[in-house]
Amino acid sequence: MKLQFLGTGGGRFATISQKRMTGGFRIDGIDDKNIHVDPGPGALVRSHQYGLNPRKINLILVSHSHTDHYNDAEVLIEAMTQGMTKRTGHVVGSESVINGTDELGPSISKYHQSKPKISVLNPGDEVKDDNLIIRGTKTNHGDPTCVGFNIKYNDFCISYTADTEYFPELADEHKGADVLIGNVIKEGERKIKGHLRTDDFKQLIEEVQPKIAIMTHLGVNLIMNNPFQNTRVITQETGVRTIAATDGLTMNLDQYL
Ligand SMILES: [Zn+2]
Repeated sequence: MKLQFLGTGGGRFATISQKRMTGGFRIDGIDDKNIHVDPGPGALVRSHQYGLNPRKINLILVSHSHTDHYNDAEVLIEAMTQGMTKRTGHVVGSESVINGTDELGPSISKYHQSKPKISVLNPGDEVKDDNLIIRGTKTNHGDPTCVGFNIKYNDFCISYTADTEYFPELADEHKGADVLIGNVIKEGERKIKGHLRTDDFKQLIEEVQPKIAIMTHLGVNLIMNNPFQNTRVITQETGVRTIAATDGLTMNLDQYL
């Protein structure tokens, strides 16, 4: 099983500037399936750049209706459905992504929803795809329907916070994660609305105790201020190996099974 980051930038300014790419990440070879999570701008291009075939995607997960998370979802659906010629694949998204809310979305057109299986995922709900169970995790973010993903395959669990600020029950949502992936936008003292800071991620890691933690979706300031120094300190202080993802980073997850 392989995890690969097609982009590790997050937030408006990292996205506009492409200081880091914004293609989300792929999990390949989980229950013989390939999953693309949060395909922001560049997801299609970066797939090809890193030798990943977008036609071989089985599942597309979209956490919410902000461009750095959904932008390339439609074109990846076209790839997954072999140019919209086949009823295949599965798209799991927040309410805003699939149906739209007053202000946001829908981020995937009716046309693009016509071929794959479509599931709306709300926090606390579960969606099954053969042997995979995807449970929606709670968030506190600008898109009120934003949902994280707890992806379970047998006893193995990858948990992804999506965009959220820290709140006391957040750890309960990600308990049991072997691999914890957090969207961390900033370091520093001042709490930031709707997003995790490095200190928040450290707290979450202490509470969840995953086998490995990875931070991605880094904002411009964090990218400039050495994210690796932050993860070094988090690793030392929590005892949990913590990595700041870089564009293209590939990890073999078999060692965490
Ligand atoms: Zn967002």
